[in-house]
Amino acid sequence: MAEFKQKKNIAILGSTGSIGTQALEVISKLPERFEVYALSAGNNIKLLSEQIEKFSPKYVCVQNKEDAKFLSDKYNIKAFYGTEGLIKIANIEEIELILVAVSGKIGLRPTIEAIKNKKDIALANKETLVMAGDIVMKLVKENNVKLLPVDSEHSAIFQCLSGSKGVKHLIITASGGPYRNKTIDEMKNADLKSTLNHPRWKMGKKITVDSATLMNKGLEVIEAHHLFNFNYDDIKVIIHPQSYIHSAVEFTDGSIIAQIGIPSMHIPIQYALCHPERVEGIETESFDFIKAKQFEFYEPDYEKFPSLKLAIDAGKIGGSATVCLNAANEEAVYAYLDNKISFLDIYKYTKMVFDDYNIIPNPTLDQIFDEDEKVRIKLQELIKNKD
Ligand code: NDP
Ligand code: MG
Repeated sequence: MAEFKQKKNIAILGSTGSIGTQALEVISKLPERFEVYALSAGNNIKLLSEQIEKFSPKYVCVQNKEDAKFLSDKYNIKAFYGTEGLIKIANIEEIELILVAVSGKIGLRPTIEAIKNKKDIALANKETLVMAGDIVMKLVKENNVKLLPVDSEHSAIFQCLSGSKGVKHLIITASGGPYRNKTIDEMKNADLKSTLNHPRWKMGKKITVDSATLMNKGLEVIEAHHLFNFNYDDIKVIIHPQSYIHSAVEFTDGSIIAQIGIPSMHIPIQYALCHPERVEGIETESFDFIKAKQFEFYEPDYEKFPSLKLAIDAGKIGGSATVCLNAANEEAVYAYLDNKISFLDIYKYTKMVFDDYNIIPNPTLDQIFDEDEKVRIKLQELIKNKD
């Protein structure tokens, strides 16, 4: 095992979520590399308590004040709460790397704060780049920090690019979700259980619904545009139901480099946390070409999955268009999860709000949050008044 001069102090925002818990699994296999300095959760205090007992962080953050008080009394640690609490964590001097694995817009402010404080970021939270990619990437450059992608497709592209010149296209793969082979009519009656039953990945509910509408792939195209500085026309999406190829890069000489592996988030999480090294950490099943037998590829069906096109269109328009897209879609997904609207209504309401939206070309961060709030209220009102 390699020797290390010093452990890296890491904070995990969203430690109780799908990415957060898998990150802690990775870290527990690499105790010589990481010191878990801070953890944050929303409301899952039971799981956070178990994590505190196992990893002994110096700081925690939760969503509300009462839970923070309970934890600081019980464990005698510093406990913050709310967005302000996450920002305080982003300001802790000793922390060197922050994994942003909260879901939703809550990830944006602490990410910006952490970048300004010259901390490296492992980014799972895709809303950060969808809402404010221009601002975030500018700050990354100015502060000379690393922004390491955790999303599997972006980790794949990051690995395939690794400093190469002469890139022609980025190729983002998509499993196609649970409704790949269903008709629009069948999707009309899609219940929550089938929507949440993703064929390849076990993830949080919001991203699982987005994977069923293919909005997730659209958000990933926007993410890739910002992360790798590529024009939208040079980012292709292909459906690859097996999810073995996590994404690929095509070069000007006709070569394509693809990243292949079993569908497991442990791999991209570990790669981001240990970058630039590749380590033997968490055990993952090896990919077996012989067993896999088949790699299939299809063109995405933009008619059946219009959310994908809407997201790419919003990305091409730029400015606050992606803020509107993200906020409207997120509220529509929550309404679907609350059984207030049907599966196909997610797109319908997102599109209604998007079509009626006045885009701000170069929004400031405050404008981004204002627009986000306005759009959410608009979508909620539309749903409330639908009957
Ligand atoms: P989960 O819903 O499983 O977890 C979300 C985490 O964020 C939980 O720890 C939750 O806390 C916390 N959280 C949610 N809302 C708040 C809030 N208002 N304040 C503080 N904490 C909050 O999501 P995932 O792990 O699936 O996804 C996290 C992010 O990573 C998303 O942006 C997603 O798009 C992205 N991502 C996820 C992938 C995956 O495989 N899951 C793959 C690629 C990207 P609690 O549960 O305690 O309330
Ligand atoms: Mg992904």
